[in-house]
Amino acid sequence: MTDKNRIIIFDTTLRDGEQSPGASMTLNEKIRVAEMLETLGVDVIEAGFAIASNGDFNAISQVSKLLKKTSVCSLARASHKDIKRAWEAIQHAVKPRIHTFIATSPLHMEYKLNMPPETVLEKIADSVSYARNLCDDVEWSCEDGTRSKLEFLYRAIEIAIKSGASTINVPDTVGYTTPEEYKALLENIIQNVPNSDQAIFSSHCHNDLGLAVANSLAAVEGGARQVECTVNGIGERAGNAALEEIVMALRTRSDVMPYTTGVTSEYLTQASHLVTSVTGLAVQNNKAIVGKNAFAHESGIHQDGMLKHSETYEIMTPASVGLKKTNLVMGKHSGRHAFMEKLKELGFDLADNEFTAAFNSFKNLADVKKDIYDEDLISIVGGNMKDSDYFKVVGWDFICKKNIQNSATLNMIIDGEEKQVFSEGNGPVDAAFKALISLVEGAPILQLYQVHAVTEGTDAQAEVTVRLEENGEIVTGHAADVDTLAASAKAYANALNKLLMQREKKFL
Ligand SMILES: [Zn+2]
Repeated sequence: MTDKNRIIIFDTTLRDGEQSPGASMTLNEKIRVAEMLETLGVDVIEAGFAIASNGDFNAISQVSKLLKKTSVCSLARASHKDIKRAWEAIQHAVKPRIHTFIATSPLHMEYKLNMPPETVLEKIADSVSYARNLCDDVEWSCEDGTRSKLEFLYRAIEIAIKSGASTINVPDTVGYTTPEEYKALLENIIQNVPNSDQAIFSSHCHNDLGLAVANSLAAVEGGARQVECTVNGIGERAGNAALEEIVMALRTRSDVMPYTTGVTSEYLTQASHLVTSVTGLAVQNNKAIVGKNAFAHESGIHQDGMLKHSETYEIMTPASVGLKKTNLVMGKHSGRHAFMEKLKELGFDLADNEFTAAFNSFKNLADVKKDIYDEDLISIVGGNMKDSDYFKVVGWDFICKKNIQNSATLNMIIDGEEKQVFSEGNGPVDAAFKALISLVEGAPILQLYQVHAVTEGTDAQAEVTVRLEENGEIVTGHAADVDTLAASAKAYANALNKLLMQREKKFL
């Protein structure tokens, strides 16, 4: 890194983000998000936790093989087994990175690890040098760093750097620190660790007190040159620092924070929509940068000022985050070429077969819906991602009449085989869900069923979210269709696919 004010954006949407309740993603969804992140221009993608499950391993491995310029990273605990598995997953990446960690706070060392501090130091030397023998790029994290004792942290970091770590991440694992405190922590570490000039320091902040972005920016002021974050700020508990907020704060206030990133901010809106679409986790309307109202000026005084001069109330333009005034793009007569150009503009670069499938879906939609918007296209690409899913709904027949038994017949492709399922129920949605649940063992509980329109108009696609709970674990299914009942069945099937993945994950 030649520019000392260039901030490395380390995105962990696919690892820490995926750990949010209900955010689990299928293989194809992860691939699509990773491609979007590469288009966006993030520097490092943490694609998962290789040892957690075969699903995680495959996703990291596929993403590694696919991406052309972005560094791909897997998380690993401080054991040879974890680290070896991480390396196997990332070895084909253009720029592989192993990210290994161990807790350094008294609380975590005593109660979680059950290890005396000296043993933790030995573990650090052992795990980092083992990782460094496999991979040139090793990041080391002191879990619960902000609640660790300073003197111990200095020693731990010095050992990690000596053993070969070139990035040192100091996480605020529990979202406890404040901007001033975190800035001082980074400054102290850089000043007091004798070999600190041989590593890049990194922030990793959680939003339990709503301070994740402020803390991350403070860390940069304190000397950190890598920021770990997620799209829409998704993540454990209250989430991680939001990528879009960090990028736009640095861009908008470069006068007081003279730092740059490699992110093309014009893709932020699309990235946000995609992550919402695959996780089913909607952002609130008033969310900074990507919320529905982030650029809406409602009051008369504001609207009047905006008409006279947009800078009266606007500190950044909607275009700078990729939000267009009107995004009406296509209709029935749009051709393949226009469709391809539009997908590229939205950040999607599909393989030939995926493109053909998406184009066919687009034509089908255009037959029943006059105006096709960006949101429609994003949901089409999202829908086509589900092609390789275990359960897939391909046809439907609903009976919904007053005073007769309602029912649903669904034509499915299950693991490549055609099958029909049927059930009666209290209304067609209940019938469809009963038919689908008969396909799995156990009885996950339906926690949420939500329908909203992708765009305006009565011909709009219905976007359905289904949340299932099993033994405290939550999965969220998501699908869109102009037919609300079909969207409901597909969303439930998507949730079942994620439930199967979740069952496979080992407890960490
Ligand atoms: Zn975290």
